[in-house]
Amino acid sequence: MERDLRKRLPKGRFLLVPPARSKTMRAIRGSGNRTTEMRLRSALVRLGLRGWLLHPQAVPGHPDLVFPRPKLAIFVDGCFWHGCPTCGHVPKTNRAFWEAKIAGNRRRDVRNAKVLRRRGYSVLRIREHDLQRNAEACVSRVVRSLRRLKLSR
Ligand SMILES: [Zn+2]
Repeated sequence: MERDLRKRLPKGRFLLVPPARSKTMRAIRGSGNRTTEMRLRSALVRLGLRGWLLHPQAVPGHPDLVFPRPKLAIFVDGCFWHGCPTCGHVPKTNRAFWEAKIAGNRRRDVRNAKVLRRRGYSVLRIREHDLQRNAEACVSRVVRSLRRLKLSR
């Protein structure tokens, strides 16, 4: 949860979010990210790529996938939650709330990437819509990054 967003909200909770909305939030979180990320994982498995960790808690920012050697952190970004410029839309009702929420997520993404780079990780972000349209192209990006990192070591 965003610290600055929490400051603006009473008791750090989204008290103004009606029950239907929080149900929507849960649904988006659940379907949006998990299935998208699964798509990437199964594509990696099909290619026989091994050695990655799933949501390693010890890595800052909790990337979705991490290759420890060479150090590559991969985030699968849901288009809605990460404010994708191509297809991310902001709901018309409660607009200010959603804008603050999504802006907070984006600031956190930038912060996490900085911390990871300082620790010697390369960061790869894959958007949900790219995975949906062309999972193979996304996997190629992963493979290319790994190859480049191995060569540059
Ligand atoms: Zn998108």
